Amino acid sequence: MFLTVLGCSGSIGGPTSPASGYLVEVDGLAPVVIDMGPGVLGALQRHVAPEDATILLSHLHADHCLDVPSLLVLRRFGPGARGAGRVPLVGPSGTAYRIGVASAEEPGAVDDLSDTFDVSTWDVTPEVAMRGDDDEVALHVRAERVEHPPESYGLRLESGDGRVLAYSGDTAYCDALVELAVGADVLLCEASWTHEEGRPPGIHMSGSEAGLTARRAAVGRLVLTHIPPWTDHEAVRAEAAAEFDGEILLAEPDLRIAV
Ligand SMILES: [Zn+2]
Ligand SMILES: [Zn+2]
Repeated sequence: MFLTVLGCSGSIGGPTSPASGYLVEVDGLAPVVIDMGPGVLGALQRHVAPEDATILLSHLHADHCLDVPSLLVLRRFGPGARGAGRVPLVGPSGTAYRIGVASAEEPGAVDDLSDTFDVSTWDVTPEVAMRGDDDEVALHVRAERVEHPPESYGLRLESGDGRVLAYSGDTAYCDALVELAVGADVLLCEASWTHEEGRPPGIHMSGSEAGLTARRAAVGRLVLTHIPPWTDHEAVRAEAAAEFDGEILLAEPDLRIAV
């Protein structure tokens, strides 16, 4: 299983990175894209054919989903549109409606995505098994609610050969994420700010909290992501390193790692 960072800028696109988006590749399986914030579709085109990708959304904040309407345009009207069929799109409850509103042409309208996407939701289907060319399960995904203002999920992805990637989505420090990440080979974890006094509760993690999560979950490697342009990246990394003594990487566009 390979993880490629498409975009990692927290909360908004930044001067050197799109907002959140990550490509997961497993042998024999269509590409999987986790989150699709502004700019991610462009970055995705450097790596795979976007039309084939399965899309998993952690939550519906703009910085995690607003390139899905652009992917819909590509799938509906692009050169490969005829006979393109539908690809899976999995997200929080209301995903079809919210993306449909973003894609609509008139006030009050909701675009019907069902010609291009087969939409399902984590609240109804918290576990998804994706079968590869040989009909074996190539990737198993489990979603758990995490602590963030809208309905938000962390993800645990396990490949057919037993490698595990855990993704925090956006979340405050919470036991649900530790449980989701237990023993993961790689934890892709948000760290949106430094551990200052007066941080608002229930929204994001500091570098210290990301490091503590990695230590408690005993993960192999920690990849810090979703750091906004206005936050000191190296300060976040130093905070995490004070809590977790395993390998720590800062996400950057096109970073590709074997999980
Ligand atoms: Zn975000
Ligand atoms: Zn968010």
